[in-house]
Amino acid sequence: MSSTPARVRIAPSPTGDPHVGTAYVALFNRTLARQTGGQFLLRIDDTDRSRYQASSEQKIFDALRWLGLDWDEGPDLGGPCAPYRQSERNAIYQQKVDHLLESGNAYRCFCSAETLAEVREKQKQDKLRLGYPGTCRDLDAVESSQRAAKEEPHVIRLRVPVEGETCFVDQIRGEIRIANCEIDDQVLIKTDGFPTYHLANVVDDIEFGITHVIRAEEWLISTPKHVLIYQALEHPLPGFFHVPLLRNADHSKISKRKNPVSLDWFREQGYLKEAILNFLALMGWSPPDGQEVFDLDRFQQEFNIEKISTGAPVFDLVKLDWLNGMHIRKMDPDQLLQRIDEEGFLPQGVSPQQAAAVLPLVVERMVRLAEFEPRTTWFFNLPEPPTPEDLVPRKGSPEQSLEALQATSALLKSDLPFQAEAVNEALDAMLAEKQWKKPLLFMPLRFALTSRSDSPDLIEVMMVLGRDNVIDRIDRAIAILECST
Ligand code: GLU
Repeated sequence: MSSTPARVRIAPSPTGDPHVGTAYVALFNRTLARQTGGQFLLRIDDTDRSRYQASSEQKIFDALRWLGLDWDEGPDLGGPCAPYRQSERNAIYQQKVDHLLESGNAYRCFCSAETLAEVREKQKQDKLRLGYPGTCRDLDAVESSQRAAKEEPHVIRLRVPVEGETCFVDQIRGEIRIANCEIDDQVLIKTDGFPTYHLANVVDDIEFGITHVIRAEEWLISTPKHVLIYQALEHPLPGFFHVPLLRNADHSKISKRKNPVSLDWFREQGYLKEAILNFLALMGWSPPDGQEVFDLDRFQQEFNIEKISTGAPVFDLVKLDWLNGMHIRKMDPDQLLQRIDEEGFLPQGVSPQQAAAVLPLVVERMVRLAEFEPRTTWFFNLPEPPTPEDLVPRKGSPEQSLEALQATSALLKSDLPFQAEAVNEALDAMLAEKQWKKPLLFMPLRFALTSRSDSPDLIEVMMVLGRDNVIDRIDRAIAILECST
């Protein structure tokens, strides 16, 4: 792996919620920058004005910062190559495109959208390759300038050589060659005067001194055009690394119809940033020792950009849930509590001390931080009463549940010490004496105390609730059963 400082970038488009794919690509880029003592840049690709959403840029910043994927230069930080928003760089693109027009590597095209649509229809009918037919390629230079001077609507296209082939190396996939006759005369400047992604992207990567272009595989198909633009601008190529796309279970490109893709959603659900980063890292990279649970530091030490896999990683939320649970249990309790609080998952009115008392009971089963409240509300507030049906296990009867709860209530009202071991032993003795199977006692008791079918260990629940609360809740359940029988 090269150890010269890498200058790398991500170029998200502010078109909606911050996308998990942005974090995925940011992770690899930033890691390479950190490994080599280089810089990680954030550029906002806002050239597509029709899809632009003003609030999106801030959301991208917030989501990436939340994940800890901070950058060294960007629209909000400034830097030596400012501005970092493409919409503010139009003069630069214009200058480059003027140069390309002068050198003959680009030309104006006055074909209307309707004409081009007709051409396309005809190509389809005749089963020909779809593409720009080259109508304006050889337009007289003087005529072209005059029509532009009269503000006749036009685009500017790249003059792709008719012969030969374009060749480049993708550092993950190897050499790629494509016949130039397969490459369309790419639009560089649109009728609205804004550059296309292709032009802006290459010009900026050159201007920003980008050494490694690490981006999603979906851009691989555009890279030959980019290579031609680099060549027309007489600039050496950066290293290209196209990382595998995240996929839905059916292997289609990850989409919000089939998967959550907004980083905000993951945050709202209570995924830990550590788990998300771990998950995204595993989508493109396998740790040599097979240890799948790791943190960013270890990833930074061991990751090798050239070893990114070319597989089609499935974005599997079951795996993410598993990782989230693992990271939750890796954190020390104070740190976890603080995180629950910071992320807004501490129920209202609950003090950190109360939360600390109940956390050990739920931490083993917690998958997402958002579960903290539903899993613990029985502790902080008297839950909605259980229904009579809740209190009767499948193989039990109302009379039997009533007897079990009454016996437990009496036991707890006796002089039995209210300690885990003593209560446990007394309940075991009761089960043995009455020859009851465990669920016949524990199911009604669980609902009586928590109004839930899944709760932490019942003895622990009793210990955190305290004797009085436990007795009150059991007696409430007894009353419910008495009314219904
Ligand atoms: N704006 C593109 C995107 O949203 C950038 C692609 C690139 O990195 O060249 O992914």
